[in-house]
Amino acid sequence: MNKPVGCRRAGSAEITPSWWDSFLHLLYPERCLFCGVILSSNAGRPLCTGCEEKYSPAGFICPNCGNLLGSETECCCQAKDKKLRALFALSFYKKEMRGLIHDLKYHGRRSLARPLGRWLGFEISKCGFDFPDLVTAVPLHKRREQERGFNQSVLIARATAAFFNRPYRNLLVRTKDTTSQTTISRLERRENIRGAFNYAGSLPAGATLLLIDDVYSTGSTMKEAAAVLKQHGATVYGAVIAYNFGTRLSSG
Ligand SMILES: [Zn+2]
Ligand SMILES: [Zn+2]
Repeated sequence: MNKPVGCRRAGSAEITPSWWDSFLHLLYPERCLFCGVILSSNAGRPLCTGCEEKYSPAGFICPNCGNLLGSETECCCQAKDKKLRALFALSFYKKEMRGLIHDLKYHGRRSLARPLGRWLGFEISKCGFDFPDLVTAVPLHKRREQERGFNQSVLIARATAAFFNRPYRNLLVRTKDTTSQTTISRLERRENIRGAFNYAGSLPAGATLLLIDDVYSTGSTMKEAAAVLKQHGATVYGAVIAYNFGTRLSSG
């Protein structure tokens, strides 16, 4: 993939835990996200050996045609004018991962955001992805965030930013509350989300951003957010916890 200016390549030394993480692990040992057994280390995937077998990494996905690209970022469809330079998904939206996202979003289990965000950073690093200059998240509408008490994507993105040792920054405001996204078609979603984000940040010239959301399905939400950031001079890479093949099952 292209190596954005100002980014450094993820190296194996940078995915070893810091002394602080190791200290925290002694105090609060990390548990397998899928089955809950205590893990011996907090480096890498937060899964026990048995549960690793249930994990199916999604990797890079073409934001244009939906091709699964594995560890590659370029697709044979050669799309021009991509709002998202590339899209990475930690996994597919099914079984265990769907349960974790559901627990985080709807049962208020905020403690899940940190291991999920770190895990996302770990898998991206393993693919040799260049570290972004900044990490940001797809915002919720103010009313929705007040109802929930938090934006799960921001919590995840902050943990990914910490993993990369990069700043997290809010750069967008959602001005449209598109709550009905789950019940409408792909085309209607795209129309519905148009103009939903206002730029509300400041970016260094030529910044490379990692834009994070929890679930990606049609991509209309993330692409609209990415388009606004691109208009302000950023190169935008997307990353999500789960990629949903269905179009009527999730928020994005
Ligand atoms: Zn397990
Ligand atoms: Zn493609």
